Amino acid sequence: MEKTLKKTAVLLILTAALMLTGCNGSVRKYSFEGSNPEDSEIYVSPVAGLTDDFFRGVDISSYLSQIESGVEYRDFEGNQLDESGFFKLLAECGVNAVRVRIWNDPKDKDGNSYGGGHNDMDTAVAIGKLATEAGLQVLADFHCSDFWADPSKQKSPKEWAHYTFDNKNSALSEFLKTSMDRFYSEGVNVTMVQVGNEINNGFAGETVRERINSLLVTGTNAVREAAKSNGKSVSVALHYTNPESSNLLDYARDLKKAGVEYDVFAVSYYPFWHGTTERLTEQLKNIAENYGKKVMVAETSYLYTPDDGDGQGNSVSSDTAGVVLDYDISVQGQANEVRAVINAVKNVGDAGIGVFYWEPAWIPVRVYNPDSPNAADVLEQNKVSWETFGSGWASSYSKTYDPNDAGKYYGGSSWDNQALFDFEGRPLESLKIFRYVFSGTAKELEIVKVDNIRYESGIGAAVQMPSTVPALMNSGDTKDIAVIWNSEQVNKAESAGAGTYEIAGTADDGGVKYELVCILEIKKINYIKNYGFEDADMSMWEINGNGVGKEADNNKRSGEYSLKFWDNVPVSFTAEQKIIGLPAGRYELGAYLQGGSAGSNPIFELYITVNGERFAAQSGVTSWQNWDNPVVDGIDVPEGAEVTVGVKVEAAAEAWGAWDDFYLYEAE
Ligand code: CA
Repeated sequence: MEKTLKKTAVLLILTAALMLTGCNGSVRKYSFEGSNPEDSEIYVSPVAGLTDDFFRGVDISSYLSQIESGVEYRDFEGNQLDESGFFKLLAECGVNAVRVRIWNDPKDKDGNSYGGGHNDMDTAVAIGKLATEAGLQVLADFHCSDFWADPSKQKSPKEWAHYTFDNKNSALSEFLKTSMDRFYSEGVNVTMVQVGNEINNGFAGETVRERINSLLVTGTNAVREAAKSNGKSVSVALHYTNPESSNLLDYARDLKKAGVEYDVFAVSYYPFWHGTTERLTEQLKNIAENYGKKVMVAETSYLYTPDDGDGQGNSVSSDTAGVVLDYDISVQGQANEVRAVINAVKNVGDAGIGVFYWEPAWIPVRVYNPDSPNAADVLEQNKVSWETFGSGWASSYSKTYDPNDAGKYYGGSSWDNQALFDFEGRPLESLKIFRYVFSGTAKELEIVKVDNIRYESGIGAAVQMPSTVPALMNSGDTKDIAVIWNSEQVNKAESAGAGTYEIAGTADDGGVKYELVCILEIKKINYIKNYGFEDADMSMWEINGNGVGKEADNNKRSGEYSLKFWDNVPVSFTAEQKIIGLPAGRYELGAYLQGGSAGSNPIFELYITVNGERFAAQSGVTSWQNWDNPVVDGIDVPEGAEVTVGVKVEAAAEAWGAWDDFYLYEAE
């Protein structure tokens, strides 16, 4: 069923293509250089020095599976778009290139699609023709696998899996040449080719660097030969991810050493995973300058909504752990992200040649709303479409090829909240960013919102609330504006002492008011100086013994530093601090300890002496980053007492670990 429908769709596309060429013949060329600011609901400032030849691409590999599933796309006036209309809309919005992924054989032995857009050569040619007819260039992204290739998977195509390495080289060469010949013979305007996708850790089933590089030599040569024999010119790109990582340049160095001839060093750059745009520019510039390569971002994207639209949980949302969401989650935030990435690549200089947005059209087949009474039915229908037409990221049929991931967790689009179309298929204003980066928009700079803030204050003194708060501008920058806090709430918090309080505030920008809340934390006074070893001055700590000192590594509990210990002989030390001028009262002493290999009957002791009388708590180590929190409480300190706090450690050779975050608080 799936195959029959797909063939019908491809035939329809071919017919449409012929008609268009027949009636029209010439393709409209768009130019955006030197254009004037446009009216828009979003603020965009132009990227200086951008030229028409800078790649502004979109990867719409899932497009045909979406269409087969019944997804409808519209223009800015709400009119439904046919296939050529969709690609024309892209061109009008400033897009000048389409990227399409290619899997060798993304189906099981019965012909059932693995899903993910079912991107075999037939699909790539069909998308490539539509792009070409709209005047767009095509970036052919050969994964050289039968399904998704990324840092965690680089599986060999089924057919090559049992080949000798020599035979795999020949098969790769043959596959790329045949595929390129087909693109050319069908008139697809392929101007750039990626040999492999996110090949940091492998390629086509190989994980040893020498073998990967050998295949890359074969693959890049095959692409060049195919172009030459067809009288075409083509750029060859190699594609990596984690552009923030310190070993990015190692790949370029290895490629040079191995004699891999390529033109473009491309990276994925997702701002929520991959560091700052400044770091991106720096890394790409290093590669451009040291290895004489062009550089670009082959994949980027950002979310405009935290919502899921199809019943398949999304890769990134507002509550996703461990991600950095530096841009506003809005259409404006999305536009700001794309502009920032284009600017970052442009800042490399002439070697920075473009940016591609990943899957801006991968929207829900049917819109799923978990609160709607028919939610279960919609999800069921979506699942049928994902299985039948490959419009989800994977189908259940992928289990024969990728049993541990796709075969287990198959489903829909985890990217619908990062599309440049809304869930109903209407284009977002952020789609026009690809032309707005030339002209900028006429929209005034204005405040988007003023977020709630957090603020810390010490106990015992008057709470000095901040006099300004940062307001988020539509440019993505912030500006500080005046704020007035509810004084009654501040006074109440002050007299209640240590704790966490909500303080209402009203910020004011030239008469426009913004209501917000400050989470005020009044912290106890910690009478231990340099309690977390972050200060350079360590003179307050008296350390005696071996194998101990402050260090910045992954043994810390907070900040950058901890008091680390290790030695190849038995570890024995004390670390003490005299507490001067401690007010009379009752106190609590605590600290944190982690480590291992301490041997039998080690001593890890936290102690305090008050006028010579010693109080102690025992602690111990189990494993890395498994923190124990020994506490000595109920310590009565008279006026003018001599007070010393400290730790004592006696452990076996090779014992390791760290103390961090000491505290001496007045008891409640
Ligand atoms: Ca989703």
